Amino acid sequence: MISSLRLPRIRRQPSRYFCELDRWSFDARYTNGRCPICGWAPAGAPTAPGWLMTGRRMDWQVFGLLALAIMLLLVGLIVAQSVGFTLPTGQGHLPGTIASGARTASSSR
Ligand SMILES: [Zn+2]
Repeated sequence: MISSLRLPRIRRQPSRYFCELDRWSFDARYTNGRCPICGWAPAGAPTAPGWLMTGRRMDWQVFGLLALAIMLLLVGLIVAQSVGFTLPTGQGHLPGTIASGARTASSSR
């Protein structure tokens, strides 16, 4: 799952094109892959800068879900530590807990 989030290798391809009809040179990355005057689209022209193409290709919802899960785990650990919760070991009960203390106080009366 982590390996699928790795950034794809950015290919170097020419982004400047020259429109013969308008005698206009343009960078296809910033004109949505088309000539800004007549709309001619060169074959294989990039439609956005490399960082934006990479950002569009990544699945940001998975990142959000992972961040939420990590945050919930951290909040749970903070709350568990603040109330003094420890994982039950199953090897007898610890002496001096609140329940046994109240029980002994009520039974001694
Ligand atoms: Zn043109």
